[in-house]
Amino acid sequence: MNSKILLILDLDETLLHATASKLGDNFAFQLYHYYVYKRPGLDAFIAACAEKFQLAVWSSASDDYVAEVVKRIFSEEIKLAFVWGRSRCTPISTARADELGYYHCDYSSHYEYAKLLKKVKRLGFNLNRVLIVDDTPAKVRNCYGNAIYPEPFLGNPNDQELSMLAAYLDTLKAVENTRSIEKRPWRQQFLPNPDPAP
Ligand SMILES: [Mg+2]
Repeated sequence: MNSKILLILDLDETLLHATASKLGDNFAFQLYHYYVYKRPGLDAFIAACAEKFQLAVWSSASDDYVAEVVKRIFSEEIKLAFVWGRSRCTPISTARADELGYYHCDYSSHYEYAKLLKKVKRLGFNLNRVLIVDDTPAKVRNCYGNAIYPEPFLGNPNDQELSMLAAYLDTLKAVENTRSIEKRPWRQQFLPNPDPAP
């Protein structure tokens, strides 16, 4: 296998948390009126992923926010396959999502910004060689076979998710077909064993 798998990363609540209300002084940078907190281990996570995968970023946040965040968290040496924001997402009305059987969790909004992998396919990528990481299953509901769902990061300084995710991704880097692997229970292998039943 000579080509690396394409690993598409979400930003908000996957790699970082941006909030208008300051959570503490350990924010990484300020952008517009947001304090941006990096998920613990982010720099090491990106460095490890950049060695093993071809990387891309796809967020449903505004395009200018996405471009600015990417500049601040990825080193210039890392060549990203693409950096996409909301303009590359597809608004699916929640009513339509219901009709299609799509899961959505925000009943107050009329749209979910979905990431449709057919747009990635159009760039020439084989979808058997693509992984997409997103804390919001609804946004990647149409491509669940490619998706890995981390727990959302809301600023917990003791969060361990990225070290678990890096270890998990290491097990996938050489697979032939990313879609043939059941990825939904990926976190279970890294969590401490529950207490045995009495
Ligand atoms: Mg997110």
